[in-house]
Amino acid sequence: MISTVVGSYPVIIQPPKTRKNKLFNVIRGNDKCKTAIQHSVKSQVKAGIDIISDGQVRGDMVEIFAKSIPGCKIENNTCVINSKIFTPYQNIGVKDLKLAIKYMKQELNELNISSKDKKKKGVKGIISGPSTIVQSSKIGPIYKNKDLAIIDMANALKSEAIALEKAGAKIIQIDEPFLSTGLIDMEIAKEAINIISKNLTVPVAIHCCGDIKNIFDNLIDFNVDIIDCEFAGQPTNLDVLDSYSTNLKSKKIGLGVIDTKKQSVESVEEIAMLIEKGLDIVGDKNLFIDPDCGLRLSSDEIAFKKLKNMVEAMKLFN
Ligand SMILES: [Zn+2]
Repeated sequence: MISTVVGSYPVIIQPPKTRKNKLFNVIRGNDKCKTAIQHSVKSQVKAGIDIISDGQVRGDMVEIFAKSIPGCKIENNTCVINSKIFTPYQNIGVKDLKLAIKYMKQELNELNISSKDKKKKGVKGIISGPSTIVQSSKIGPIYKNKDLAIIDMANALKSEAIALEKAGAKIIQIDEPFLSTGLIDMEIAKEAINIISKNLTVPVAIHCCGDIKNIFDNLIDFNVDIIDCEFAGQPTNLDVLDSYSTNLKSKKIGLGVIDTKKQSVESVEEIAMLIEKGLDIVGDKNLFIDPDCGLRLSSDEIAFKKLKNMVEAMKLFN
């Protein structure tokens, strides 16, 4: 079993401590988000998470990508697609991924982790999914239908996936929260995901939110290694998983065991019960344990305690 997170973490921006740094911030326009990335990385490593994220501290999952992809622009907080979508001129998340890897290594050294355990550790590269970006955008007359835009978006995101892999991502995760809404043609969604995952050498995960009853049959045919879903806030998803226990087509499962909509901290025993159910269905070699979704809406303290208890619960099975 490997522990991981879905992505977002509470954004804690530390004000500069010295007058000199304050001045640098003003003169150089220093990137305030760096301290937020550092905080999220330190917290995740301290909680004992194996594959962490950079905390996705720069805001909305659609906006971050849309503002850098030619063909899209942001108007009144909405992405508008008004010309043909092309590959971005610059990488989007590579700088933050490299920073997160640097901060992770520093923290691991401070915590004196054994070299065997260090090998399990890494940072995931995260991409907002093409279907989700297009579905949450206004589409101008350039695209006769959204399916064509989804495929162009996938081609544009492909270069980002390659760049994240080159920069040292331990896995690549594609976030598609909209797939369970029933608004997306799953054949198009599959074609788009397969464009991104083709030829990547690190494992590729897809993260879906909500009820997977109507989409799981499609998901197991996607060219990805890991299917990550919510199981704490969506207990019926366990029944769906159970019905595929002998037909998972070598997919590993990301088992969401923390309800990220709840502000209370689940007990170690409560989490362990859910892990046990996952273990019974898919086995420990095929299991990634993580929260249901991102932790952005939790307080800093709650987010950390939730992750810590999750790791403690996993230890009961080692
Ligand atoms: Zn989610």
